[in-house]
Amino acid sequence: MASRFLLRSPLTSSLKNSRYFSAAAYNAGNKDSFYHKDLSIEKVATPKSYPPKDQLLFGHTFTDHMLEAKWTRENGWEKPKIVPFHNLSLHPASSVFHYALECFEGAKAYRGKDGKVRMFRFDANMRRMNNSTASISLPTFDVEEAVKCVTELVKLESNAIPEGFGYSMYLRPTVIATEPTLGVRESNSALFYTICCPCGPYFPTGFKAVRLFADTEHVRAWPGGTGNSKLGSNYDGGMYPTKLANQKGYQQILWLFGEEHKITEAGTMNAFVYWTNEEGVLELLTPKLDGTILPGVTRDSILGICRKWGEFKVTEGSINMKQLIKASKEGRLRELFGAGTACVISPVKEVGYLGTNIPIPLDPNDPTAESGPLARRIYEEIMAIQYGDIPHEWTTTID
Ligand SMILES: *Cc1c(COP(=O)(O)O)cnc(C)c1O
Repeated sequence: MASRFLLRSPLTSSLKNSRYFSAAAYNAGNKDSFYHKDLSIEKVATPKSYPPKDQLLFGHTFTDHMLEAKWTRENGWEKPKIVPFHNLSLHPASSVFHYALECFEGAKAYRGKDGKVRMFRFDANMRRMNNSTASISLPTFDVEEAVKCVTELVKLESNAIPEGFGYSMYLRPTVIATEPTLGVRESNSALFYTICCPCGPYFPTGFKAVRLFADTEHVRAWPGGTGNSKLGSNYDGGMYPTKLANQKGYQQILWLFGEEHKITEAGTMNAFVYWTNEEGVLELLTPKLDGTILPGVTRDSILGICRKWGEFKVTEGSINMKQLIKASKEGRLRELFGAGTACVISPVKEVGYLGTNIPIPLDPNDPTAESGPLARRIYEEIMAIQYGDIPHEWTTTID
């Protein structure tokens, strides 16, 4: 039986070879992408000024312009436009409001010490977005064309990207279903848009290790479901359980799956365990892409960087709570952290599970440290690449 969910990483797989994600099939022979050569730009009359950079709150301040492209099943994609930032006017029956037909991406543009603006693996975000749209029967587009159009928006808004390490401009590409009818079926119209937010460092005063609540009642994703696509609807089920975890004094949920309580993700991030495994081998382990895991760009970058270092085993596998507790008791557990675009790395100091707290080591040589040495090293390496301190094929400089 053909698997409905991706077992390969969409970050590395070729869309052209994918049965599931054929742009042409979804767009019925019409314009199967929007194109950079058709892009028009309408600028605001008076550019706005931004708050001082130390006052930027994540996702609160938006830039002057947005990118838009409309799609209909009948005519395919229309020409993309960069236009002044504006509210959307949508029919109240639009399927995005009723059946949550929506997907999004999160990426950043960074300004380096040399003043140059860079994007990090943004093609991977656009490839993943095509997987997401296709998984809810919305149209796909050409990855390179989408990268070029969003890059044009970043260029236009580059004055909004604050200087300084840790500062960036967050990019939020989004696709919504806009068909104004209530039937529960695939939408015949859609809108792709991208908005931008200048933002400050996630850890303004250095790492803050978090406590996670390993939830044995609620499930984020399941095999055959949509947990491997970046859909807004995947977040709905986490809101209330996260509130309960917060009330118990935990910042985020450690998501589990199955009777053996396998670790899947940490909050809205991918999870990593650094330990001496049951064979006595030093290993960095992250749950494999079995359909319940969102294929993070940061996850993939960490795997690439650590495999290149070649200093310990790097595994896409599986670990359950019993194994984690045993490793903790036997002193084999070194670090546990989450990974995602917003913070890069989020160190964990404690996991609450079935009424007990499992302590997670941070830095054995520094009792005041809020991160383990490996988490810190990976963080510094990725940030150095993103800000252009280390030249790398993953970054694209915007002129
Ligand atoms: C976006 C996201 C991640 C992290 O992905 P990145 O590409 O690294 O930002 C992890 N888990 C979930 C559920 C996500 O939505």
